Amino acid sequence: MPEMTCAALIVAGGRGSRFGATLPKQYAPVCGIPLIRRTVQKLLDHPDVNAVRVVIHPDDIELYDSALDGLSLLDPVFGGETRQESVLNGLESLVDDRPDIVLVHDAARPFVSNRVISSVIEALGRAPGALPALPLTDTIKRSARGLILETVDRSGLYRAQTPQGFRYDDILRAHRGAAGCALTDDAAVMEKAGLDVLLVEGCEENFKVTTPEDHSRAERLVRDNAQTRVGTGFDVHRFVQGESVTLCGVEIPHEFALEGHSDADVALHALTDALLGAIGAGDIGLHFPPSDPRWKGAASKVFLEHAVSLVREKGGSIVNVDVTLICESPRIGPHRSAMIAVVADVLGIDADRVSVKATTTEGLGFTGRKEGVAAQALANLAFLG
Ligand code: MG
Repeated sequence: MPEMTCAALIVAGGRGSRFGATLPKQYAPVCGIPLIRRTVQKLLDHPDVNAVRVVIHPDDIELYDSALDGLSLLDPVFGGETRQESVLNGLESLVDDRPDIVLVHDAARPFVSNRVISSVIEALGRAPGALPALPLTDTIKRSARGLILETVDRSGLYRAQTPQGFRYDDILRAHRGAAGCALTDDAAVMEKAGLDVLLVEGCEENFKVTTPEDHSRAERLVRDNAQTRVGTGFDVHRFVQGESVTLCGVEIPHEFALEGHSDADVALHALTDALLGAIGAGDIGLHFPPSDPRWKGAASKVFLEHAVSLVREKGGSIVNVDVTLICESPRIGPHRSAMIAVVADVLGIDADRVSVKATTTEGLGFTGRKEGVAAQALANLAFLG
């Protein structure tokens, strides 16, 4: 099958009246990140999705801008009075791009998996429409006024999820033809047009965050999927003639200086490498080549700040760091709390999450001969799911 172009429409026009909050539920944070950002990121991250557009309520422009800041998206379009109208507006907005297929996904389903998205796309090679669904497991009752009328045969009944995928030309034609009908999902629009829609296996985690209980479940799921990552760093700088050294950003009068292209802060270099190591982002020399004159005499805080911003961009937070300086001199103890304060400030974490220790090598080796200072560091990061 030739490569298909695939656009995703995220439907986010709802007012979330069932959620009981003033903020529309799709913009509410889940463990610090707006629900809609989590959802959009899932589609953006899928290798077969070429473009993502969000259909929003006209009142939500500011919320949209702040929730999705920095993501590479097509400009949002406004939805209509109903979900069906909103999807039609989204489909019409793609007329010039005319993707081969389009995925329509609820903004309030942030836990959709790559597998589900891939299954839907793959099924569109066999039919003009596909949707993920799960069989009903509970016994189904029909009731009126609290009284059970009958037990419904649940065989063949499924709970429909999103993303629902369609060949673009088919769904656009079907939606245009169904304008004004009150259909609750896009598969129903296809059914009305007499077009086949395949079922693929959904997943339980792909639930729609609708009630406050769903929101709590979403936060639990994010925390359950949290990852810990650690990185280590090591660095050495040689003593040369001079009057002071800079260690962990603190200048200390000394009988020597440390040699280096920057301010030779061996401790911050090790710590920078530990952070870069934890996110697999190379080493300090890759980001700040010693051959670059910009970094001559630079305060090494700049390097650490850069590593911190990379960690944040990747969605990580720093849990704690541990730095060990290895030298016979200078004495570190008197400067330890100043060093901790500098590091905690640059990392944006509390001082009790920063450790700065010192040791000697009992007169052995290059540090024992006072030829230089070595430092090692460990960084511990948390990434919420
Ligand atoms: Mg260095």
